[in-house]
Formats: sequence, structure tokens, C-alpha cells
Amino acid sequence: MLALADLFPDALPSDTAATGAYLLTITLSTPLSGSFARTPFTLAPGTYAYCGSANGPGGIAARVSRHLRRAKKPHWHVDQLTMAAAQISAMGFPGGSECALVERLVAAGATFPLPGFGSSDCRCCVSHLLDLRHSRVGGESKKCMHNPER
Ligand SMILES: [Zn+2]
Repeated sequence: MLALADLFPDALPSDTAATGAYLLTITLSTPLSGSFARTPFTLAPGTYAYCGSANGPGGIAARVSRHLRRAKKPHWHVDQLTMAAAQISAMGFPGGSECALVERLVAAGATFPLPGFGSSDCRCCVSHLLDLRHSRVGGESKKCMHNPER
């Protein structure tokens, strides 16, 4: 199992006003039914990753704080997940590209549960939402008692 922190050693806290990319890990504890492209879908419980970019005022911090807020008017596809999530964590990549984050997750075995989801403005990715359930990526990096350097 690979910790996200090991896959993304260049990640910074998401409370930066810099613009760039961010990665959300979203844990669903119950199945989520939603709709996308006028088609209903159901996502199984588990951990998903969403890669986005924040180039507006307030940068990554402003965009991520909106994602973390549960009460909001749904606007983006991913709002359906963030409003139902049991847990959300975020990493920031000032100056980064969300598509490069998608590539790294795919290389670690992540899959696309809903092609086209969250990537309407992207021509290179299948989707910006990834399913981590069958990938080599786990959750938080766990400190090892015998090797505190890890
Ligand atoms: Zn992309």
C-alpha cells in the first residue's frame, strides 16, 4: 500500500492563496446515488480522489474551503460527492496541473468510475475523478513505531 503522502511528496497544505492544482480525497461511507450527464449513477462506499485547479481569487485555499463546506448550492459535478462525504482531505500544488495529478494516480492503479465526470473543460483526461478502491494508494501516511523516520 502506498500512502498519498509518498505518491505526492511535493504536496503542500491546501490553505495557500497561491493558484494551481489541488487534490481532494473523498471518503464515502454509504453508497452515493447522483446524476451526471442526465444519467443516474451510484458510487460504492470507499475513497475517491478528485483533481482540480484553482486559478481564481483566493487561489487554492478559497476553492478547497468551498469543497469542504457541506452546505452549498451544487455547481460542479464533484459537489455531489463533497456534500455526502464522511471525510474529505485536501492537498495543494501551487503552480501545478490537475491533469498531472490524474496521471500519477492512474500510474498507481486508480481507475475512472465515471468517464467525463469533473473534466468538462479538459481534453486529455478520461475524468478528474478517480476511484482509489482497487489502487495501491491508501489513506494517510502511517508512522511506523520501529522506524519513526518513515
Ligand atoms: Zn485533465
